[in-house]
Amino acid sequence: MSENTKIPYKIYLSENEIPTKWYNVRSDMKNKPAPLLNPGTGQPMGFEDLRPVFCDELIKQELDNDTAYFDIPQEIVDFYKMYRPSPLVRAYCLEKALDTPAKIYYKFEGNNTSGSHKLNSAIAQAYYAKKQGLRGITTETGAGQWGTALSMASAYFGLDLKVFMVKVSYEQKPFRREVMRTYGASVTPSPSMDTNIGRKINAEHPGTTGSLGCAISEAVEVATTNEGYRYVLGSVLNQVLLHQSIIGLETKAALDKYGIVPDMIIGCAGGGSNLGGLIGPFMGEKLRGEKDYRIIAVEPASCPSFTRGKYAYDFCDTGMVCPLAKMYTLGSNFIPSANHAGGLRYHGMSPVLSQLYADGYMEAVAVEQTSVFEAATQFARTEGILPAPESSHAIRVAIDEALKCKETGEEKTIVFGLTGTGYFDLVAYQKYNDGEMTDYIPTDEDLAKSLDSLPKIG
Ligand SMILES: *Cc1c(COP(=O)(O)O)cnc(C)c1O
Repeated sequence: MSENTKIPYKIYLSENEIPTKWYNVRSDMKNKPAPLLNPGTGQPMGFEDLRPVFCDELIKQELDNDTAYFDIPQEIVDFYKMYRPSPLVRAYCLEKALDTPAKIYYKFEGNNTSGSHKLNSAIAQAYYAKKQGLRGITTETGAGQWGTALSMASAYFGLDLKVFMVKVSYEQKPFRREVMRTYGASVTPSPSMDTNIGRKINAEHPGTTGSLGCAISEAVEVATTNEGYRYVLGSVLNQVLLHQSIIGLETKAALDKYGIVPDMIIGCAGGGSNLGGLIGPFMGEKLRGEKDYRIIAVEPASCPSFTRGKYAYDFCDTGMVCPLAKMYTLGSNFIPSANHAGGLRYHGMSPVLSQLYADGYMEAVAVEQTSVFEAATQFARTEGILPAPESSHAIRVAIDEALKCKETGEEKTIVFGLTGTGYFDLVAYQKYNDGEMTDYIPTDEDLAKSLDSLPKIG
């Protein structure tokens, strides 16, 4: 019996093997991620400073750089059981199509109605809001995956949810919007006329189709001016990486079952939450000097925070009301070209991953969108799953690495994160199928212009 026949197509954990603790990679980092700063005073923000914006328990998680494991409350574990554990799939068919000696595995997070990994953190954030006795929460959404995940989580706990959806997506992705409304969320196109910051942005930029940074400002304003509401965010923050560590813990448990040791771990990076979650336990081993892995972040060439951004304090939002975070950033004024279809449009990057990247613990690659959709198509045709454009960034680099193995004859083991499905991204697929998709790479001048707006700190 060859080794191949011993490893199933899908490695499932049993329900009882769902992790009951999240892992906090910050606990093993020698250089901790830089603290959030107050945009007014430039001082680090503590628990009390953050309380008007975020839920209490989530602030504790956000600020805790030392606790290695956090118990996952039973209510959250019970919810996880509805769609977890997620399978770790051996991509036998893709390997065969590539004729590579590499062994490729992907962790599939698209098997829930929201269609992505975002539900892992949405349910946790909704839980802590409910436990605090809040009436509701506010958030922003771009392409709509986060809003969808949070609307599912809010419905489960009976919380009111107000979503500010970037106007261009609101208009172009009506189906996402209807999923959110079906789960009971109210969805407002941003910039709106409902908030001070929205009215200001509309006055300054008539006809603007909005941006994530702008929608964040609106959601924060509504949370801080309405009794019983707080703001929640689906990526970038330390707490979100903590919740997403469920992905990496399950992946590691599944690999360990068969004694598989990956050579490289690949994930797409928008704000860094799925990647941070997937690599968490592996990075922990690396930080403790127990093991070594190549860890590769993949970002779009049109929004290249890691590969062409600056590691500096920046605003998280356009309205400059949120705390400042030290991260790889393109500047909070950076708006990716409208021609960029594939998500991953945020100007900044998780402070945890930024510090790890600055310290040389991981690599980053930028890829162009036509090559991403080429990989997506090849994956769909071989493995059957229609991948989200975001996830397809990771597929692109997994395929590229597998093809390198074909040249060298090395039997490397590649693990990548398949963060979601692409059913709501068919306009982008249509463009690709019609041969109308183009690549856009910002010029150095474009980037210099948006980086000019970085706050002068440190
Ligand atoms: C939101 C999203 C991403 C990117 O967000 P991260 O925080 O970088 O993980 C990737 N894939 C899918 C399917 C998403 O919905």
